Amino acid sequence: MTALEDRVADFLVRHPVATTPDRSLREARFDEGLAFPHFAVGHGGLGLSPSSSAVVEQLFLGAGAQDWSGRNVIGLGMAAPTIHQYGTPEQLSLLRPLFSGEEIWCQLFSEPDAGSDLASVRTRASLDGSTWMVSGQKVWTTLGHVARRGLLLARSDPSSGRHRGLTYFLLDMRLPGVDVQPLRQITGEAEFNEVFLDEVRVPDSARLGGAGEGWRVAMTTLMNERVAIPAVADESGHDPIGRAVAAHRASSGGSDAGARRDQLMKLWSRSEVSRLNGLRAFAAASGGEPGPEGSVGKLEMAELNKAIFEFVVACRGPHGMLIDNYDMTRPDSAAVHGGADDAKAFLRTRANSIEGGTSEILRTVLAERVLGLPKEPAPTALM
Ligand SMILES: Cc1cc2nc3c(=O)[nH]c(=O)nc-3n(C[C@H](O)[C@H](O)[C@H](O)COP(=O)(O)OP(=O)(O)OC[C@H]3O[C@@H](n4cnc5c(N)ncnc54)[C@H](O)[C@@H]3O)c2cc1C
Repeated sequence: MTALEDRVADFLVRHPVATTPDRSLREARFDEGLAFPHFAVGHGGLGLSPSSSAVVEQLFLGAGAQDWSGRNVIGLGMAAPTIHQYGTPEQLSLLRPLFSGEEIWCQLFSEPDAGSDLASVRTRASLDGSTWMVSGQKVWTTLGHVARRGLLLARSDPSSGRHRGLTYFLLDMRLPGVDVQPLRQITGEAEFNEVFLDEVRVPDSARLGGAGEGWRVAMTTLMNERVAIPAVADESGHDPIGRAVAAHRASSGGSDAGARRDQLMKLWSRSEVSRLNGLRAFAAASGGEPGPEGSVGKLEMAELNKAIFEFVVACRGPHGMLIDNYDMTRPDSAAVHGGADDAKAFLRTRANSIEGGTSEILRTVLAERVLGLPKEPAPTALM
């Protein structure tokens, strides 16, 4: 047993999962540095190596602890590393309720005319004394309806175009003027929302990083997003490839059985490569400087998930096209791979190649920044 495994085992003796309320268990984990072990001591960590985080999480899940990765996906995967890197002491104190599940986070980046082109953000923040007045509209805000706080990117200097003149805030979603409205997805559910900001008075103490330096802070969030969205599985055969294996087993032989088995093996191989890359990316990102593995993993996860659920639905034959329940619900958890319903998972995974950076954008990022290929011509250069 490693020293870290010993530490977790000792913790679990003092706080048995079966008898400790989940909130208390997570608060104790934070206090003992077993929340984000690679973070600094006092902020939920132990200052350990980046890969320690995945190890500790797997140990707790293995012991039967609840999995919060979907319920606070933005908090744990994106807000925490960004706050840890840029936060003031007051802002760092938000990490404990974030980890415990007391406060869910959302991400207020995208706007109707600023998705892939995030530098076009138009939500306006103007400083009035020690308070910022924020007005604008955000869209596709995952879990905005349950979020207590949001990562907000706004334009604070309209005279500085594009990347300059943006400021980043940790927004209290209960402030007057914040209005969250559901957006229904192709699955029938509304995991995400539109958020209208109407003269919201945000204290300057909620600013993360310098005024006008929001782009740099946002890049930290986005690089972590690309690692957070693909689930990191420590074992082969995990979902979603496990679902493909189950669907294959359940489907009858038929004349195309050989071809289908061949297809399954190709998906399995891609899944294994993706899983191992995910572990590598998680380890790299946890160090605070996510690398290209994150973008590779996000791109492959999106395309692979879509292929897996096409296979699953095909295995089910004509029944695969049927959906039993199309009720409008507002889930309290983001299901990147879709839920238990195969047909809904097929529909939900269509969004994987849009959320967290589209596949087209990620291919450009990889071409230019990793392979060093010539830059894409700017749209104006094409005219
Ligand atoms: C399920 C889901 C959850 C989401 N959750 C959140 C959230 O919580 N918070 C948040 O802020 N946002 C969220 N988003 C928004 C997401 O980040 C954006 O949808 C995404 O960045 C794409 O932006 P867009 O929708 O404006 O599409 P556009 O940027 O308008 O793109 C449209 C199409 O054009 C292509 N395209 C655009 N520019 C280029 C280019 N330069 N080169 C080649 N092709 C290009 C794109 O790849 C895409 O196919 C979510 C989206 C989804 C689907």
